[in-house]
Order: sequence, then structure tokens, then C-alpha cells
Amino acid sequence: MSIFTDQEQKIAQQAAKIGRQCGQCSLCCKLLDVPEAGKEDGKWCPHVRPGLGGCSIYKDRPNPCRAYACAWLVTPLPDHWQPLHSHMIVDFHIARKDAGMTMRIHVDPEHPHAWRQEPYISEIRAMAERGATGKPRIPVVIKVGHDRIEVRYDAAA
Ligand code: SF4
Ligand code: SF4
Repeated sequence: MSIFTDQEQKIAQQAAKIGRQCGQCSLCCKLLDVPEAGKEDGKWCPHVRPGLGGCSIYKDRPNPCRAYACAWLVTPLPDHWQPLHSHMIVDFHIARKDAGMTMRIHVDPEHPHAWRQEPYISEIRAMAERGATGKPRIPVVIKVGHDRIEVRYDAAA
């Protein structure tokens, strides 16, 4: 029997198709909120071993960890968005079954201004424009620690 869930296999297949892997990156084990693992967002998970093989409870890690993939891993986001390089994680999030999708940009609090640098800020504006004008609408939110910044697109600007 495989120790991998269907969702993990789908993520692995998509990452292979894009030609990417997590490698030494464990940044989602720092920036995301995973109550099931006893971690808060912005703080390293007590189970993580960054650069030492990732998760120390890998076989028993909780389902939200198994089901998670950042956008760099599974979409053609440009290479410079690699999380350890950019200090940011992009993902798509649906908070509730009846809610729409949000694009989240989690910024490492140790590099709180990373999103303001080029080429990121211009690309974030373009993402906000696509999110505001496409169907379905996908708002873009930047998260830095507990701060949340909605990126607005003004068609008249
Ligand atoms: S942030 Fe993305 S690339 Fe880094 S460990 Fe998490 S899923 Fe993998
Ligand atoms: S349990 Fe493992 S995979 Fe999940 S956040 Fe902690 S270190 Fe990362």
C-alpha cells in the first residue's frame, strides 16, 4: 500500500510535469498556519528540520501538510518566485466551501519588504489586474505576519 495519498500523488505528478521539486525549501513549514501540527503562521513548525531533510514526522504529518503545494511548485510561475529565493510563497486558497478563491502571497517576516522589490511588485500588480478582470475573480492578498494587504486594481488609474 502506498504511504502517499491521491492528492500527494497528483502534486508530485504536476511538479514533475513543471520540472520542479521542493528540494531544500521548507518555507511553507514556517509561513503557513497549520494548527494540526501545533504551528502558527510566521513561526517554524516544531517538527521542521530546514536543510536537514524537511519534516521529522514526514510519514505521520497531518493532512493539510500532505495536501499543500505552493504555486511555484505546481504552476509555471517564473523561476525567481522560488520561495527560498523570493522569501515569498504564492498559493491559491479557498477559505470555505461557499467562498471564492484567493491568491495569497505569504511574505517571510524576516524579509517584510520582499514584495515591494522588482520584479515582484510589477508582477503582483499584473496578478491583481488578471484577478480583478478575469472570470472567476481572484483577489490578491499579501500576508506579512498578521498584516494583510489587499492588492487593489484600479482600471481607471
Ligand atoms: S514552499 Fe513550496 S517549494 Fe517550498 S517546501 Fe513548501 S511546497 Fe515546497
Ligand atoms: S508537520 Fe512537517 S510538513 Fe507539516 S508544517 Fe510541520 S514540518 Fe512542515
